[in-house]
Amino acid sequence: MKEILLLKDGEIVLKGLNRRQFEDALKKNIRLVLSPLGRFEITSAQSTISVKPLDEGVDLDEACERVGRVFGIVAYSRAAVCEEKTLESVLETAPEYLAKKLRAAKTFKVEAKRSDKRFPYKSPDICRETGGAILSRFPHLRVDVHDPDVTVYVEIRDRAAYIHADAERGAGGIPVGTGGKAVVLISGGIDSPVAAYMMAKRGLKLTAVHFASPPYTSQRAEEKVVKLLQRVSRYSGAMRMYTVPFTKIQEKLRDDCPEELFTIIMRRLMMQISERIARDNDCSALITGESLGQVASQTIGALNCTDEAAEMVVFRPLIGMDKQEIIDISYKIDTYETSIEPYEDCCTVFTPKHPRTKPQLRFVKLAQEQACFEPLIEEALQNLKITQIRPDY
Ligand code: ATP
Ligand code: MG
Repeated sequence: MKEILLLKDGEIVLKGLNRRQFEDALKKNIRLVLSPLGRFEITSAQSTISVKPLDEGVDLDEACERVGRVFGIVAYSRAAVCEEKTLESVLETAPEYLAKKLRAAKTFKVEAKRSDKRFPYKSPDICRETGGAILSRFPHLRVDVHDPDVTVYVEIRDRAAYIHADAERGAGGIPVGTGGKAVVLISGGIDSPVAAYMMAKRGLKLTAVHFASPPYTSQRAEEKVVKLLQRVSRYSGAMRMYTVPFTKIQEKLRDDCPEELFTIIMRRLMMQISERIARDNDCSALITGESLGQVASQTIGALNCTDEAAEMVVFRPLIGMDKQEIIDISYKIDTYETSIEPYEDCCTVFTPKHPRTKPQLRFVKLAQEQACFEPLIEEALQNLKITQIRPDY
């Protein structure tokens, strides 16, 4: 039996004149995740994208998994293609294709959608006839239109008739790339991969920046970040990661700045360096995993000082979330287990005993200016390491 995937696009329906552009981006993103699995024909009509495998033996389970992580799709289902677009073919295909589900169920109903109005039977007729065919094959079943165990969907579309059961929930959001480009500041912690995922969901294409301070931070810590980004890229698509050599800057900070301002100045330097990388990569926003009140550098006063360092808008999608809510998402996107591996981050080297929770911007800026980080920033930018990140299916 031939099968295809039917994908329902979501918010992009709302986008009026931009709709075409959104749909093209979505189709391109679907093609990117599926192309390693074989050749597919991807077409769209009536807010449904059809994905038809062109080769025999394509792994449709894997295709569903991948499509389930593409932003811009609200629901997807695997469907049987009826051999002919006739009622007879529907009546034959429906009980056959969904036999396993129907055998295990006690109740069912049929829903028909007829977008091809030339089809000679109306939806209620299709429902009644299909219900009859199912009942005669599975006499133990009962029809329950309110709360059925299985709903059998019959879709009569322009190109063919399709049969499927309940759709799976898609990743939602907006197609990656249609919202612009942004740099995500990524550590090895729990929060920043979640922040990256959340902003990719709003249509941003990502570039990652990671600050490393060898020998205070290890090669393993950097590999952990790569692994986290590979997980995120299952949703966001491939991205480039820049590793910034941060050791000399942190040593200067330790030697030349007041200890209680160490963290806040470090955060400002991270923002400034990330912004420079963002500009060079055509990105127009920064993303961090900060959450209000979580640590001393994430108080309202500290965030005001950090924010002032960058001109670009800074997205902090976790700002109002509790740790547990963030952890729930990290489980969902499968980053949690990696995030909790115990490797040090540059944020945890030379940390002051008593960081200022209410830093005065004036003093912070003055201390930063006096230390004069510019030559070291230049040097760091000259020595960026680039790693290409791809999804780790
Ligand atoms: P996370 O769980 O993301 O590490 P956190 O709660 O540990 O966050 P901080 O260590 O204060 O908080 O970091 C706040 C944000 O700063 C991170 O979410 C991330 O966006 C950025 N950040 C922290 N360390 C680094 C790093 N080494 N490289 C790049 N960005 C970093
Ligand atoms: Mg951290």
